[in-house]
Amino acid sequence: MKRQRLTVLGATGSIGVSTLDVVARHPERYEVFALSGFSRVDTLAAQCIRHRPRYAVVGGGDAATQLESRLRAAGVVTEVLAGEDALEQVAAAPETDAVMAAIVGAAGLRPTLAAVRAGKRVLLANKEALVMAGAVFMAEVRKSGATLLPIDSEHNAVFQSLPAGFAGDFERRGVRRILLTASGGPFRATPLEQLASVTPSQACAHPNWSMGRKISVDSATMMNKGLEVIEAHWLFAAGAERIEVVIHPQSVIHSLVEYVDGSVIAQLGNPDMRTPIAHALAYPERIDAGVAALDLFQVAQLTFERPDLERFPCLRLAYRALAAGGNAPAVMNAANEVAVAAFLEGRLPFLRIAGVIAAALDAVPPGPAADLPAVLAADALGRQAALVALARP
Ligand code: NAD
Ligand code: MG
Repeated sequence: MKRQRLTVLGATGSIGVSTLDVVARHPERYEVFALSGFSRVDTLAAQCIRHRPRYAVVGGGDAATQLESRLRAAGVVTEVLAGEDALEQVAAAPETDAVMAAIVGAAGLRPTLAAVRAGKRVLLANKEALVMAGAVFMAEVRKSGATLLPIDSEHNAVFQSLPAGFAGDFERRGVRRILLTASGGPFRATPLEQLASVTPSQACAHPNWSMGRKISVDSATMMNKGLEVIEAHWLFAAGAERIEVVIHPQSVIHSLVEYVDGSVIAQLGNPDMRTPIAHALAYPERIDAGVAALDLFQVAQLTFERPDLERFPCLRLAYRALAAGGNAPAVMNAANEVAVAAFLEGRLPFLRIAGVIAAALDAVPPGPAADLPAVLAADALGRQAALVALARP
């Protein structure tokens, strides 16, 4: 069997590390063509020594020199590149078959889009890219024939629960609705008056999943679920009315699909991202992911609640941006990135995150987002408007 050659964008992050863990279990199936990391040179160096990629891409400056000297000392011939153009280059290179898009935030948009345009098998973790540029993305997928496989656990679960070859043809395939599960994050049951003073480390202490800091805060505000509603809209050609969010604190059911005959098909598993990663890497085959078997006797109970939009205004904002369409999701995503960064740096109270995003949505005039320049312009306007809102007392 020919080995699949893989580029991992964001290799040093939570998803990147889990991806390389799965890859290392199957050396006969996968070889690593390129790895990228922004600043964590130690981790990236160790990954290069272990996986021997042709290229390693860093953010720039010192990181490249440092990585270079680490690798030479270890006798590794991996070529070190730096910057955004290099990310696009390794994502689209003819020598790579599949690209794991696991950079966090808008920074992942261009390289992920480059992989799509080159017709790669794209394993999409970087949901922000799809939220910002859904229309551009899906048009490019159709044009290039790229295969887009969702890594987000909910979307991977929906993909597994939909009929094979589903193409947004709900009526014809008898599909009624998509039910996206959400854990509710660390503050699902925290008394509202305590939310005003929560710290970044409390927000990042997710009850079920271990993830990067940005998505952890998004889970605490439930903006993560808002982004995922928009992600589901694009991936499955589903109108907002076909996507319902269900709070399920155990994170065992990763999402469900409801059919017209009353059947509901779900995907279950332990909350470990190596399951959707292994699914997408091997699709349509199945491989060992290193994940323990689900012990239903241990789980014992599965419970469900309706999301509380007063507690989680970010979820409402995401439905608003989806309904507005055009540039609104890109503006919302950009403002969220600014607000979350400010919260993580101790410059913004947790409860003001939603207000900053709402202010940006109010401030930026609606417009189209039908091509990359328009998306990048919306992103810039969203960031600017969020910074203005941040500066207000
Ligand atoms: P992380 O913070 O752990 O890792 C982010 C990666 O992106 C790192 O490798 C970092 O070096 C790189 N990066 C950061 N800024 C960059 C920049 N400006 N330019 C280039 N590279 C940059 O994040 P994560 O938790 O692994 O999440 C990655 C993506 O996957 C996010 O979009 C997230 O929403 C999505 N996702 C993550 C999980 C999870 O369990 N962690 C689950 C579902 C979806
Ligand atoms: Mg998710």
